[in-house]
Amino acid sequence: EAARAAYAAKRPLSAALHERALEVLGGGNTRTVIAYGPFPTAMTRGEECRLWDLDGHEYLDLCGEYTAGLFGHSEPRIHAALHDVLRRGINFASVGPGEEKLARLLCGRIPSLERVRFTNSGTEANLMALTAARAFTGRPKIMAFRGGYHGGVLTFPFAGSSLATLPLPFVLADYNDIASATAVAQEHAADLAAIIVEPMQGSGGCIPGTTEFLAALRALANETGALLIFDEVMTSRHSAGGMQARLGITPDMTTLGKYIAGGMSFGAFGGREDIMAQFGGKLAHAGTFNNNVLSMNAGVVAMGEIFTAEVAEALYRRGEALRARLNGLAAAAGAPLSFTGIGSMVSVHFRTPAPNRPYAQGQGEEQLRELFFFDMLEAGIYLARRGMVALSLPVGEAELDRFAVAVAAFVDNRAEQL
Ligand code: PLP
Repeated sequence: EAARAAYAAKRPLSAALHERALEVLGGGNTRTVIAYGPFPTAMTRGEECRLWDLDGHEYLDLCGEYTAGLFGHSEPRIHAALHDVLRRGINFASVGPGEEKLARLLCGRIPSLERVRFTNSGTEANLMALTAARAFTGRPKIMAFRGGYHGGVLTFPFAGSSLATLPLPFVLADYNDIASATAVAQEHAADLAAIIVEPMQGSGGCIPGTTEFLAALRALANETGALLIFDEVMTSRHSAGGMQARLGITPDMTTLGKYIAGGMSFGAFGGREDIMAQFGGKLAHAGTFNNNVLSMNAGVVAMGEIFTAEVAEALYRRGEALRARLNGLAAAAGAPLSFTGIGSMVSVHFRTPAPNRPYAQGQGEEQLRELFFFDMLEAGIYLARRGMVALSLPVGEAELDRFAVAVAAFVDNRAEQL
């Protein structure tokens, strides 16, 4: 409560904006993920990995737009590409060379992508991939995992919650639990069109899928005739070829999103040629902005020139080092704190050992996560409200030092609450 009050007192302009927004926006804003109490911080300007809010505070940005902000706020090559597009004009209702180039770059990098198509978001990419799988197999059901997140209308409840609001017929199993996945796959074997899974659950708390678990899903898909879909909307940043290249497991289809268009709206789905050949034949996939020239051309520069295999590897290593450092710091202090994730994505959990299942409900961690978020804001560090960090390329050693110092201070100052 004290942390909330201190937060609110310093941000009257963000508070006033929120009041006005409630009058015209359902729920006060259009992104559930930033609808935290008492009101979201309104940001007005960004440069490299720094952000400024409406009330004039400066932050080190470690949220990285939930992984879409990989290039920071002012990458000059992306800005140049966008200016170039604007000079030539937008909204042509046509095809263009950017779309073909970006598709070629992605198919050249991600092992499972023989063909790809573009959407405006990861949500749409997943809806299209699932539609393609249902059409290809002629079967209705999809297996997903509790705690998983595949988009705005594809958010998966924990045990006891309702499946009634989901747009497709899903059956749910437990993440990182081979016995649970096997039982569900066997029960629905004849009806199963696809198994969709995040190689690391992002929204679920940066919980890596074990190699054994993901390999078991590959085998279950083969046995049942369902298609295996990797949702790599977040995890594709973990190597040039995505998490699948790191794991050595190739799904039938892959979905992408977030950073790939240099920070412009983006989604993509693709996979085996025979599955993707349905488009242009029996399956339609229209969309006014699917190949919008801003996203396509920014994406060509982002993936072709900036986020090379070497850069991806260096970012991965920087994240691994950060997580080891934070876990070391918590262990040395004897604090019940752990940091999960893969490479440049890190989530804080208020228990040890680090969990290998998604955020458990009702474990009393929620208040501590909120406290962590507000204390970091107070230290001038902006991260995702749920305690997730997604490093962007402009984040350097000095910034990581600053974060580690802030985490150490949190562990010290909040010893009683922990
Ligand atoms: N899939 C995963 C794994 C995600 O993390 C997200 C977004 O956070 C999505 C899909 C949805 O992407 P978008 O927000 O672009 O619709």
